[in-house]
Amino acid sequence: MGKNEHQEALNEIPVMYLKGVGEHRARLLAKLGVHSVLDLMELFPRTYLNRIVNPTLSQMQVGDLVSFSAEISWVNLKPTSKGKKILNVGVNDGQIGLVCVWFSYPPHLPQIFKPGSTIWISGTLSSFNNSLQINHPEFEILTDSHDEPDFWKSRQLLPVYPLTEGLSQQLMRRFVLNAFSLYVDAIQENLPPFLLEKHQFPPRREALQIMHFSQHIELIHQTRLRFAYEEFFYSQVLWARHRMYHESKEAGITFVNHRKLTTALKNKLSFTLTKAQKRVIREIFADMCSAHQMSRLIQGDVGSGKTIVTLFAMLLAVENGYQAALMAPTEILAEQHYQNFIRMLDGLPVRTVLLKGGNYKGKAELKQEIADGRAQLVLGTHALIQKDVFFHKLGLVAVDEQHRFGVEQRAQLAGKESHPDLIYLSATPIPRSLAMTVYGDLQVSQIDEMPPNRKPVLTYIRSDRKFDTVLRDVERELKQGRQAYFVCPLVEESEKLALLDAQRLYEHLQQKVFKSYRIDLIHGRMPAKDKDAIMRKFKAGETDILVSTTVIEVGVDVANASVMVVEHAERFGLAQLHQLRGRVGRGADQAFCFLIGHQPLSSMARERLSTMSRSTDGFLIAEKDLELRGPGEFFGQEQSGLPQFRFANLVQDQALLVTARQDAFSIIQRDRQLMLPEHEILRNIYMSKYKKKEELILY
Ligand code: ADP
Ligand code: MG
Repeated sequence: MGKNEHQEALNEIPVMYLKGVGEHRARLLAKLGVHSVLDLMELFPRTYLNRIVNPTLSQMQVGDLVSFSAEISWVNLKPTSKGKKILNVGVNDGQIGLVCVWFSYPPHLPQIFKPGSTIWISGTLSSFNNSLQINHPEFEILTDSHDEPDFWKSRQLLPVYPLTEGLSQQLMRRFVLNAFSLYVDAIQENLPPFLLEKHQFPPRREALQIMHFSQHIELIHQTRLRFAYEEFFYSQVLWARHRMYHESKEAGITFVNHRKLTTALKNKLSFTLTKAQKRVIREIFADMCSAHQMSRLIQGDVGSGKTIVTLFAMLLAVENGYQAALMAPTEILAEQHYQNFIRMLDGLPVRTVLLKGGNYKGKAELKQEIADGRAQLVLGTHALIQKDVFFHKLGLVAVDEQHRFGVEQRAQLAGKESHPDLIYLSATPIPRSLAMTVYGDLQVSQIDEMPPNRKPVLTYIRSDRKFDTVLRDVERELKQGRQAYFVCPLVEESEKLALLDAQRLYEHLQQKVFKSYRIDLIHGRMPAKDKDAIMRKFKAGETDILVSTTVIEVGVDVANASVMVVEHAERFGLAQLHQLRGRVGRGADQAFCFLIGHQPLSSMARERLSTMSRSTDGFLIAEKDLELRGPGEFFGQEQSGLPQFRFANLVQDQALLVTARQDAFSIIQRDRQLMLPEHEILRNIYMSKYKKKEELILY
């Protein structure tokens, strides 16, 4: 541990003790996640400004987020009719000018701007009265700063840090400079020489300095990769150890492919399996017939045929004398699976049961059947494995629609006494990089092919002003006996925007537009029982139109529904829109999806919607979604197990992630406990920073 002591020391020196910081500013820095001196050194600039005025405005477009240096030409206070004064500051880059505008500002602001001085500006370029404009830009006056230490004065490229109220760039730069001048020698390496060499990374001490002080933007970008790699690498060491641990336990069931029930099912199917389905079945069977416990994620778009693939796996367990369970997120979905299974298994000697929630007649007997092994395929909700349900000999558990399943829950499942093989089904295709980080412990199978003869859903983007034309299109379908969904975004009470929320849309359609049709409203705040009842009516064709919030996102199969209208489609993420669209087009007929966009659309929203109209490929859409929104948004807040990367970017750095994963797996394969001398640094860092996390997930 000797070498590591310094690192820990730097980690433990409170930033408060740095010259100029003190208690108050330390509290502000804490808001930025900076507690120790090392934290401050690892707080990377969010951008860099160049002091030199360099004509670039002519290449920029309205709507772009721009950052550049310019000279202040004039300052003007324009009175408004309401007695306020709008602050206008004219700047130019030597060729063209633009106006920076503040509609509200602290009283001292106008005096700050002096014609002739240089200013750095960052903001969204707009246009007003034929002239370029930026409203409320971020800025920094670059000349006249008397209190700037000499070091920064002589620099052309300056770091721009994340700030919080009460801190300024000048202060941050001073703190960072102080930290490095005092403690640079204490910065410790965290990668072994052979990895630095392999990837041509600078030593950590040098790399950190580059991030703050370099005058070469290319070098800075290059150096950031080192830090991204560190994060990826150590998180993959965790997954690699996890995998090794499993494989060494050999605690799983070794199934044998008897080709009885599975072959019987194959011969009975009214269709042939797609190539992708066959491949995934092979992958699953290979896992199940090995001694290891299987943990496999099956990804595929809605309708790609994940259920039948799962059924094959379940039958393999049954023909080996085991029970198999399928868990669905809602009771209605469990029921849907149950009915499909009964239909597909008709004539085969397999006892399939559905265990519902609540108390009902016959439930005790059902549980008895599960306990003594007579029930071979058991379907239900998650309560199946959590409550007082005992299996005789559970060999396989499949979890449906489970993209929000955290690693701790997976641990809980895998830890069940009999060590059943595990299949997770996800209709939300996840980009490769995310799967590798969030599901790093799982093997991944992809059903990336649709059964033949599917008609892709025709998708149209319509402006809210054309809503009437959409209603006419919907009516045409209704007249032919089809059903339609209308989906609205969830509306928070606090939002006073003129949103057409589900309730109002429902009333509008019922009272004004579709008076002769049967309409129901379903929303998230309803009791589960009511939601269930409404979904059942719609599924049975007893209602024509279902107006809902996003609660229908999770997959109920209504083959007769042929229209999906999404209100305020600009407010939904791509993955969500794709999910919603997947609710229609499940029958043989052409289906339609109307995405209603409310003006004005941001360029991001426009890009999302046009992606939807161009593609029906869930994997492609998922990649695009990740790119546009980033991983946090992609999964939503409640995603457990999503790693927080400070330096790495799951979109930009995918190739680096693959490399880091390969490095980590090959090192752990060779030296699981990191005991080799050349792995000493790895062992120290891993033990001090990652071991705790590992204890949560190793089982
Ligand atoms: P998923 O669970 O992936 O959304 P399902 O397994 O429910 O999809 O399959 C959707 C529909 O397609 C079902 O009615 C199923 O019987 C049918 N299906 C599955 N595989 C095929 C195939 N290879 N060819 C034709 N139809 C198929
Ligand atoms: Mg096995």
